[in-house]
Amino acid sequence: MRHVLILGGTTEARQLAEALAPVPGVRVTSSLAGRVSSPRLPPGEVRVGGFGGPAGLAAWLREQQVDTLIDATHPFAQVISRNAAEAAAAVHVPLLALRRPSWVPRDGDRWHPVDSLAAAAAALPALGRRALLTTGRQGLAAFAGVRGVHLVARSVEPPEPPLPPDLTVLLERGPFDLAGERAVFREHRIDLLVTKDSGGSATAPKLAVARELGLPVVIVRRPGLPTGVRELPDVAAVLGALGLGAPEPGTPAPGALGLGAPAPGTPAPGALGPGDDDASR
Ligand code: NAP
Repeated sequence: MRHVLILGGTTEARQLAEALAPVPGVRVTSSLAGRVSSPRLPPGEVRVGGFGGPAGLAAWLREQQVDTLIDATHPFAQVISRNAAEAAAAVHVPLLALRRPSWVPRDGDRWHPVDSLAAAAAALPALGRRALLTTGRQGLAAFAGVRGVHLVARSVEPPEPPLPPDLTVLLERGPFDLAGERAVFREHRIDLLVTKDSGGSATAPKLAVARELGLPVVIVRRPGLPTGVRELPDVAAVLGALGLGAPEPGTPAPGALGLGAPAPGTPAPGALGPGDDDASR
């Protein structure tokens, strides 16, 4: 039995668990941080809560005899990705990172890239008066000092203080479609969008609406993965690297990470269903 541990909390992590759970000879465990009170649970085994830093994760990998670690956490979940790299190196467990590709600006986009939430907050007053903030509840504190801009913040769970004084909270979980996003922009008279570069399709319609309306978008650039961690863009590429699908160019040969052939009925790479949004918890 080969044991794959998926560090999750994203749509892609759940899709990967869905693809791996039916494969004979594979034990799949998904790990969730426990930030969302009623998460959509993936198939297979699920564990919830922190490991206690890189040493705790390394101990878990050893005790549970994990053969492959997949960091499928959100592109902005920096600490756990660092811990994963450290722990995997310490116990010599192969590590892959599943990261949906960054969003790419299109004709008509008015993007203002920044390197941090603090820089995003500083940029707001010069760009608009009513901002839709989709950077997640945990980052709201960075906007607490913003004045002269009404903030409409969307999150899955209620945000906690410190909060910006001029704030409306929309408690919603994606995916968000184009019609719904148009309605949000209209109802709240949004003239500015603030987002992290989360990538993926579940939260992309807001970018299309900003483009349609010619509105500026403050977009927070991604932090990088730890040095040396191999990054794959989608579930199909991970299955390929595990020897369970068509290998990507430059991917080690099938079986290189210790898994056998896919079971009949295993979803073909690319044939996975749509997932939820996770970008604005
Ligand atoms: P983070 O700052 O990188 O990690 C903080 C701590 O939370 C870690 O040190 C670890 O605790 C624990 N942790 C994080 N992800 C975990 C996981 N999948 N399983 C077990 N423990 C985990 O994390 P974050 O940015 O708060 O994100 C937390 C979770 O929400 C992640 O699963 C991520 O994929 C998801 N998420 C994050 C964002 C975002 O914008 N950051 C957006 C959507 C979803 P220990 O050190 O005790 O192990």
